[in-house]
Amino acid sequence: MKNPVVIIGAGVGGLSTATLLVNDGFPVSIYEKSENVGGRTASMKFRNHILDNGFHIMPFYKKSAIYEILKDVKIEDRLKLAIVDKIAFYDNGFHTYPKGIGDILKMSLIPFKSRISLLKILLPMAFTSMEKAEELDSVPLTQVTSKLDFHSKQFFDAVCMLAFADSPEHISLGEFARTIIRANPFKGGTSEFAYPDMGGYDRISEVMANYVKEQDSEVNLGHSIKKVIVQNKKVTGIELSDGKTVETDCVIISYPAYHAINQLFEPGIFDDDFIKKTNRLNKTTSVVEVHFALSKAL
Ligand SMILES: Cc1cc2nc3c(=O)[nH]c(=O)nc-3n(C[C@H](O)[C@H](O)[C@H](O)COP(=O)(O)OP(=O)(O)OC[C@H]3O[C@@H](n4cnc5c(N)ncnc54)[C@H](O)[C@@H]3O)c2cc1C
Repeated sequence: MKNPVVIIGAGVGGLSTATLLVNDGFPVSIYEKSENVGGRTASMKFRNHILDNGFHIMPFYKKSAIYEILKDVKIEDRLKLAIVDKIAFYDNGFHTYPKGIGDILKMSLIPFKSRISLLKILLPMAFTSMEKAEELDSVPLTQVTSKLDFHSKQFFDAVCMLAFADSPEHISLGEFARTIIRANPFKGGTSEFAYPDMGGYDRISEVMANYVKEQDSEVNLGHSIKKVIVQNKKVTGIELSDGKTVETDCVIISYPAYHAINQLFEPGIFDDDFIKKTNRLNKTTSVVEVHFALSKAL
């Protein structure tokens, strides 16, 4: 490859892809339209405070994809983390958020009888395999929660809000089961939650951006990409919103496909059926995103 790989977007997705590529010896040029890295995890300064864009935490952090990537490239020490011991959530009063099965037994929000019925659901889930959990990806979580009493439903609402920033209606049973497996210490899981010790949540992105810059690569902030240039069915470059063009034969787009397909390509490049399918992708949840590689000629 004669030119660097172009990556559009410097959120955690674009930066973790860049981190892995530069570690494998492929130089990258990242273009990010805002003035900061982090994307949806960007933080801002207000007087003497650092404010995140909504509530962010690394649940079961040692099992998280980001932590695994930092470990793979041996830079995990650059991200100083504080272990978050107690998280409270509000539901007609403050309650301690359960970080493991043991905590559920002590939950003040839920009557004892409901705690027992919750354990009957969660324990088999915690001991299932990741492969079995994947088979449940097409089953909605509501198939389980719709049969529950009011208090048990409240438990699922709280866990989904914290783990996925969403409600059970938008989460699959498989995704939920994987979260419970990651919390099971008997399956190598952990109930440790973490948060960057210095700075806001965007510290994670800053660590990756600094590593990328050290490896002969660029992170260009304040540069919006207008178009991916395609000639003779091949990507040949990108056009920035100021009209400048950059040559490359590989472009990685790190923001949702249904936006990118409609915004970055000339009409006629993708067939209508493909565009229709992309536009039908469910946009309601903040965590489930579809990333795909094109396997057929454009
Ligand atoms: C309120 C809230 C709370 C959350 N809490 C958690 C949590 O506690 N734990 C957790 O793990 N996850 C959490 N998430 C989910 C997590 O934030 C996202 O899944 C993650 O940040 C997505 O990263 P990304 O890089 O895929 O996308 P993004 O962060 O959206 O990055 C895409 C980037 O592309 C840039 N871009 C777009 N178009 C262009 C263009 N034309 N040219 C150049 N650049 C462009 C954007 O500016 C953006 O920076 C939360 C999400 C929200 C909204």
